[in-house]
Amino acid sequence: MSSESAFLDWLRQRAPSSSDAAPLGLEDDAALIRVRGPGDWILTTDMLMDGTDFLLSECDARLAGRKALAVNLSDLAAMAARPHVALVSVALPRRDGHHLGRQLYEGILDLANRFDVTLAGGDTNSWDGPLVISVTLAGTATQPGPLLRTGARPGDSIVVTGQFGGSILGHHLCFVPRVAEALHLNDEYALHAGMDVSDGLTLDLSRLAQASGCGAVLDLDTVPIAPAALQLASLRNDGTSALDHALGDGEDFELLLAVPVEEADRLVAEQPLDVPLTRIGQFVDEPGLWAALPDGRRQTLSPSGYLHQMDG
Ligand SMILES: [Mg+2]
Repeated sequence: MSSESAFLDWLRQRAPSSSDAAPLGLEDDAALIRVRGPGDWILTTDMLMDGTDFLLSECDARLAGRKALAVNLSDLAAMAARPHVALVSVALPRRDGHHLGRQLYEGILDLANRFDVTLAGGDTNSWDGPLVISVTLAGTATQPGPLLRTGARPGDSIVVTGQFGGSILGHHLCFVPRVAEALHLNDEYALHAGMDVSDGLTLDLSRLAQASGCGAVLDLDTVPIAPAALQLASLRNDGTSALDHALGDGEDFELLLAVPVEEADRLVAEQPLDVPLTRIGQFVDEPGLWAALPDGRRQTLSPSGYLHQMDG
């Protein structure tokens, strides 16, 4: 028996073989997905690479696998979609590949179980390069419809879950994707638009505002700053404040929402989630991004965050 098939045997034993959404599991040449109910299917994919999205020299492969699924779950949460099935493709370094592969899948499967996601298939290869993992996740839209980036209107409040900044100190590997939170909010409150914060609060906010054809004004003193942002600011001591880290670090994987102002009043007063909801500003007519000054004027804010570099 080749080590490849031994690995697949191990995986079949470890992974639940079928579910309502994927009744044929990992036994066949391709996955069969059963489409049921009224919701549209929503698909997302994300590829993570050792050296860019995690450092295997510094973290357990379980955490790398966990993150690969978690970032996809966060993207479905961003659209208030319910996750169902995942396809996982992995390029394993030849050296120690099968041990690494098992650890990787342990991390994926733990999180998959927690979020009721079936591993419906994928591909596992070995090569002389670093670990690369790509997860494709399919889910269904929930009522009253998917949360989009295009629905924010001038006057809407900017509301966020959780806290921001300093994710590099550990949060990016162990965050809980806001799936349950997004489903609850979409069900109980009238939301106009939403996304998840992956590249940086101000950068992602400017993208949401731009997609909606409006601008945004942030009340900087209301931005929830994570303890890790304070820690990072003092560790680095390079003039970047904890607030700067909160505004631009990225990989917070919190929800960023546009909520009609009365609904935002209710949301913030009721605090219906385990994680805090905070109003940090409002959307405005004029395209752009600003910080609100105490005297009522606005100051232009340049969006900061992680811009994916591309040559050519
Ligand atoms: Mg996203």
